[in-house]
Amino acid sequence: MTAPDPAALDAADPLRRFAASFERSAAAAVFADGNSLGPPPVAAREYAIALLDEWRAQLTAGWERWLDYPLEVGDRLGAACLGAAPGQVAVCDSTSVNLVKAVGALVPRRLVVAADEFPTDRYLLQGIAHQTGAELVTVADAGAVVNACAVAPSVAVLSAVHYRSGAWCDVAEMTAAVHDSGSEIVWDLSHAVGAVPLRLDDWGVRLAVGCTYKYLNSGPGAPAFVYVARDAQASVRQPLWGWFGQRDQFEMGERYDPADGVRAWLIGTPNILGTALVDAGVALVAEAGIEAIRAKSERLVALAETLADEWLVPQGWRVVTPRDPQRRGGHLAVARDDAREVCAALIARDLVVPDFRAPDVLRLGFSPLPTSFADVAEALRRIRDLPPA
Ligand SMILES: *Cc1c(COP(=O)(O)O)cnc(C)c1O
Repeated sequence: MTAPDPAALDAADPLRRFAASFERSAAAAVFADGNSLGPPPVAAREYAIALLDEWRAQLTAGWERWLDYPLEVGDRLGAACLGAAPGQVAVCDSTSVNLVKAVGALVPRRLVVAADEFPTDRYLLQGIAHQTGAELVTVADAGAVVNACAVAPSVAVLSAVHYRSGAWCDVAEMTAAVHDSGSEIVWDLSHAVGAVPLRLDDWGVRLAVGCTYKYLNSGPGAPAFVYVARDAQASVRQPLWGWFGQRDQFEMGERYDPADGVRAWLIGTPNILGTALVDAGVALVAEAGIEAIRAKSERLVALAETLADEWLVPQGWRVVTPRDPQRRGGHLAVARDDAREVCAALIARDLVVPDFRAPDVLRLGFSPLPTSFADVAEALRRIRDLPPA
């Protein structure tokens, strides 16, 4: 297949104007690591300054508004990105902490995880197994997770889009299969949110977590989110009982009595400045529309794939991302033994900012709103033209 003309694709791109909604760094390199840290929205600065002004003007009175802010931004994130009706999403803590809450809420006796799952997910489950005596079953891959859940009632953790390969699970089908076998699954949406359309309410998902600094472009260490389906809210209780999850928080009562709904998933004082940055990132996704973002993302990845086949495969690279456009997220992964050195050289020479994932993967993540088709073609061209070490 011959590659389409990037300039023609850019001219026809209905989301093209959104590139101006992001700040550009002075670096000459093409940024292809949007699935690790998305670039800053121009509006992030305004949201941050508005928050600082509000803090100065309001001091503690600011909490009148800030108390609900993590849930308000959660509702906006849920509507724009998750297919979630209001009242089911809280923006708070890190993905890691939210995972502990979600898994702990299910009081697992048996845990299931894939050996190639993102490290923090695996380590946290190792820690939970260590603390609670739950059995930890580690299986080869996503497909094996579902099968392992059928063996005995389990709690599985699985990434909807895989951080290394970019493979996108059929979340609806796998959730149904796990639930049918009497098990539970907590979805990690870190590489999915803002890149692929999610319909958590329709898909019967009960618990999900994810981060906001990848395709939601909310900045380094921005608060993560947790989704707790309305139907599950009364029956699952997260294990970290902090005062922000307490009903009548400021009564300072003797015993923990969880607030109604997803508010009970807050622990301690939320990061309000970080939440404002999540608000800014989500606003752009809401404005562009996740379906349009996905349509562009599919084309960006397809262009990268075509150029990788044409230019990189003859140089000994393998495409490790699934070939089916419906089964992959917003990044393309190519593998070669010297990927680590290639990645370092591309960064050192200010050519491309990709990402290396051990042992041999070069990951190219194209944040759909700020990235043009010309950017994708240029990144691939520069990888092709990198002189051998
Ligand atoms: C990025 C990512 C995380 C990040 O967790 P933090 O707590 O924000 O460090 C977790 N899980 C997956 C699958 C990720 O891709």
